[in-house]
Amino acid sequence: MYNENCFQLGSNRSCIRELFEYGCRRAAEVGRENVYDYSLGNPSVPAPDGVNEAIRAILSDTDSVAVHGYTSAVGDLATRQAIADDLNARYDAGVKPENLFITCGAAPGLTAVFRALATENAELLAVAPFFPEYRPFAEGAGLKFKVVPADVPAFQIKLDALEAMMTPNTAAIILNSPNNPSGVVYTRETLEKLADLLSRKSAQYGHPIYLVADEPYRELTYGGVEVPFLPTIYPNSIVCYSYSKSLSLPGERIGYVYVPQNAADSKALYAAIAGSSRISGHVCAPSLLQKVIARCANLRPDLEAYDRNRRMLYNALTSYGYEMAKPDGAFYLFIKAPGGDSEAFSEKAKLKDLLVVPGTDFGCKEYFRICYCVKPEMIEKSLPVFKALIEE
Ligand code: PLP
Repeated sequence: MYNENCFQLGSNRSCIRELFEYGCRRAAEVGRENVYDYSLGNPSVPAPDGVNEAIRAILSDTDSVAVHGYTSAVGDLATRQAIADDLNARYDAGVKPENLFITCGAAPGLTAVFRALATENAELLAVAPFFPEYRPFAEGAGLKFKVVPADVPAFQIKLDALEAMMTPNTAAIILNSPNNPSGVVYTRETLEKLADLLSRKSAQYGHPIYLVADEPYRELTYGGVEVPFLPTIYPNSIVCYSYSKSLSLPGERIGYVYVPQNAADSKALYAAIAGSSRISGHVCAPSLLQKVIARCANLRPDLEAYDRNRRMLYNALTSYGYEMAKPDGAFYLFIKAPGGDSEAFSEKAKLKDLLVVPGTDFGCKEYFRICYCVKPEMIEKSLPVFKALIEE
């Protein structure tokens, strides 16, 4: 006997993984240089030197037992203090260590927050396009998952549609900016209007509606675009952050949840998140990585390589006639499929060894996603294939 829902989730692999593994099989057949794989969002720039230097210094300077031992479940105080200092220096946000819970990345932070918010009949609204794992995370936590249709073609937020979908059971909205898959950064104007709407609806329903800010791409922006810090616009924001992309450490599993001091029920919510993590077997985030973050919380990624790829693809693809929102952040482009069916387009592209992810699971089946953390030579070689596909 086993849980049918878990079985289904474990058996039906994500379309992104399927494509990636198809790409590996094709590479073995035709050579890696002949497969144009834009499927997976794995950072392609190395972690900043400071991270590796910190690891070496910690291993040589610190007692080995202390480095590798358990930490407190909420995380080392020095780590939380370093993160609070960094956030306060940038946003004047009044963050204190006791508002931070150190996690094994954004994903476990999100599942912990979702379960903490899962009262009876509670609903979570996601704005399309959205990271597909939100659905299993939310449903697994016991929340009803509802999707607000995309604001095409700018991919900001359709506030009237969002308002129409809210009910007294709306517990939270999940937002991701810079966005995977669109690369769009929500503007301050959009976020201020959203905050007004949520404040009005919270008053109407008589309970807070939280904004869950999923922020693995906060530091990945181009051209000086602003990523407003949501708690300074809407205090009932819960931030789920990760160093997977900002310090190129996705396999190391480190991030945090921030519950602002002035959020409604802040202390109780923080305790519920700790309790929720406990249910999922969280003991502590990796101790070595916590010590790295204590030294490196203020390091930023070198974005030059991503920015070059972004400009090369955006300029070439738009010149061929592809349509997409302006990608100001993260490392994705979300492109309108010629013909309007991204699954058919992805299949057609696959025949030419070009791997692009259909937008269906992101809540936009007319669009496909490409991830540009790839080698520039691969982009150059793939451009004629993109051109041929739109001309067909
Ligand atoms: N949220 C979004 C939007 C993502 O794109 C990802 C990873 O790609 C995650 C969350 C999960 O990140 P982490 O590696 O920190 O668990």
